[in-house]
Amino acid sequence: MTTKTDVLIIGGGAIGLSAAYYLLKSGRGVTVLDKAEIGEGSSAGNAGHIVPSHIVPLAAPGVIPTAIKWMLDPPRSPFGIKISLSPAYLGWLMRFAAACNAQNVERGIPAFKGIGLLSAANFAQMITEENFDCAYAEGGLLFLYQTEKEFAGGRHEAELLHKHDMPAEIFGRDAIREREPAALETVIGGVDFSGDSSLHPGIFLRLLKERIGEMGADLREHTPVTRIIAENGKITHVVTSAGEFEPRLVVLAAGAWSPQVARGLSISIPIQPARGYSLTMPATKTMPRGALLLGERKIAVTPMGSKLRFTGRLEIGEMSTEPNMRWIANIEKAVREYIRVDESDVVIEETWAGLRPTTPDGMPIIGFSPRHENLILATGHAMLGLSLGPGTGQVVAELANGQNPACDLQAFRAGRF
Ligand SMILES: Cc1cc2nc3c(=O)[nH]c(=O)nc-3n(C[C@H](O)[C@H](O)[C@H](O)COP(=O)(O)OP(=O)(O)OC[C@H]3O[C@@H](n4cnc5c(N)ncnc54)[C@H](O)[C@@H]3O)c2cc1C
Repeated sequence: MTTKTDVLIIGGGAIGLSAAYYLLKSGRGVTVLDKAEIGEGSSAGNAGHIVPSHIVPLAAPGVIPTAIKWMLDPPRSPFGIKISLSPAYLGWLMRFAAACNAQNVERGIPAFKGIGLLSAANFAQMITEENFDCAYAEGGLLFLYQTEKEFAGGRHEAELLHKHDMPAEIFGRDAIREREPAALETVIGGVDFSGDSSLHPGIFLRLLKERIGEMGADLREHTPVTRIIAENGKITHVVTSAGEFEPRLVVLAAGAWSPQVARGLSISIPIQPARGYSLTMPATKTMPRGALLLGERKIAVTPMGSKLRFTGRLEIGEMSTEPNMRWIANIEKAVREYIRVDESDVVIEETWAGLRPTTPDGMPIIGFSPRHENLILATGHAMLGLSLGPGTGQVVAELANGQNPACDLQAFRAGRF
């Protein structure tokens, strides 16, 4: 059976659902296909941080030496890397190393600032307008530090943000416990990225999925795309396990699976998964006041209403979404080195692993395919796919409707690889 559709979105994660929302608002017809349950991919169990402060791409000077240093301390390392001789994987690693330079950062900063601020404003608007009850908190994101070296790095980041007219406040040893009473004496200072916010991503995505359904989207779960057929620079058919679709426009938002879904289309989508883990428990007696990032260990701590979530690790090249219990335990132990968490309070209800879709220059891919007039790519958001979701959704709808996007997408253009 062949179904004709207006916009066909492949992937129902933070990016696909956000695109669906803004496309529907603009009057387009939308079908969302997902190989599993919509909203349950790599977006649901993440840290829930909305971080317009995050303006520096992952590929930046100093990243490679730091990663090597971390790997020499395996039990505490926030970073891991798969060993594989696959040419695509080795090519990706070489491209990533080559992109760790000042020019990449210069290109990335205005682009991330533009889409990050747009997205943060869209979250606030959408959550208010749609009355989403998803533990949304605009209290900032507080980085906590235990060593002078990392604290100096945090202060440097705060200065960088000030240079770009973005807020960041520094707290010394005496002031930090007033800002975050749960911080232990081991914490010597902190930086509050006060324009950031947080929410419960699983609840947000469930509400967004329900809202999109009410707005008229055709939501198809457990419907994997097996093939995309193109003719004369145009996608003509999208083949799934439950029949074929004949779309006017396709949005590819399949996260870490995007290269697999697009194979056969002769476009370069160099994305590798960067796996990470989370554990979630009921609210503890000494809940932190707001969202935290533990500087040396790169672990996120997020109060989410009646829940508390810890998130960490970045393992390049790992595609399985099976949580590794050794790392889950390490994350939980590391959090207790920074903040008060009574051991008896730790009742782990949920463990999770997800994949950050990561490009070699650390920037997302947003724009029309260089080879197909009716294919928009919206993928590769790495560690920012939730945060940049509603911003990406808006610009995808604008591109689909032939309008100028609200922010500059040149650094994210699809044909750059
Ligand atoms: C530990 C961890 C913590 C994180 N914390 C944050 C955070 O605090 N803030 C933030 O902004 N980001 C965070 N991220 C990153 C964020 O989770 C990702 O960037 C985001 O999930 C990517 O969204 P997406 O919609 O592109 O992909 P996904 O959410 O992975 O969605 C892609 C969808 O495509 C579907 N799909 C795949 N193949 C097919 C197919 N063949 N046919 C149909 N459908 C298919 C999948 O089932 C999936 O549902 C974190 C990630 C991890 C791992």
